[in-house]
Amino acid sequence: MTALLQVQDLHVAYGGIQAVKGVSLEVFEGELVSLIGANGAGKTTTLKALTGLQPVAAGEIGFLGQAVRGQGAWDLARAGLVMVPEGRGTFTRMSVDENLLMGAYTRRRSEVREVAADIDNVFALFPRLKERRRQLAGTLSGGEQQMLAMGRALMARPKVLLLDEPSMGLSPLMVDKIFEVVADIHRRGVTVLLVEQNASRALALADRAYVMDSGVITMTGAGGELLNDPRVRAAYLGG
Ligand code: ATP
Repeated sequence: MTALLQVQDLHVAYGGIQAVKGVSLEVFEGELVSLIGANGAGKTTTLKALTGLQPVAAGEIGFLGQAVRGQGAWDLARAGLVMVPEGRGTFTRMSVDENLLMGAYTRRRSEVREVAADIDNVFALFPRLKERRRQLAGTLSGGEQQMLAMGRALMARPKVLLLDEPSMGLSPLMVDKIFEVVADIHRRGVTVLLVEQNASRALALADRAYVMDSGVITMTGAGGELLNDPRVRAAYLGG
């Protein structure tokens, strides 16, 4: 079986700072893969490089069996590699409905009916957004904005959905909700690469996971395996 997403020896630098130093990882169809690690480990930089938002210094990126290193963010999103960025990036002066429609920007004109059906699916996943469909995104709570950002990404019909720290800055109740939704999205058949600092929750959900530290992958294994690994517990789970 070939991976949907295959990263080989990825290097990314900001000027003289080597942020990613030889990362290799794979995501297979239907998997939920978590990438965990401390602040500054290079997780966000890895996602940005995968989605064409940050130039790659060296290494190979394969998506759906094609070499895609150097392709622009637009082409990659259209091909189905879709990211929900850290900080969400919703269009604050547009309504919930308009934000969702923006998520369908990569879709073709002929797909108008399907787009309408996809909006209904997003509202089934997030009833709270449906209640607020005409509200401006900037007036939503942090958790609601995270839901909207995920909903918008789903409108592009991702083949692999990349989530960058969806639980960041949310209340404990909303963190629970967001992880439930990530699990739900995955159950509906979406392949997910989840970047999280909340290691226990991310590992509990993951089929497989990678641990990243100072720009390199230090461990990999099944989510449950890493959750119970004494080294992971000591470094990322408070012992
Ligand atoms: P966090 O969980 O805090 O977001 P992270 O694992 O996602 O951390 P990155 O944001 O990828 O880490 O950062 C990796 C390294 O690259 C850090 O040392 C950071 O300071 C550096 N870095 C990130 N963005 C830039 C930038 N635009 N310019 C220079 N250095 C950067």
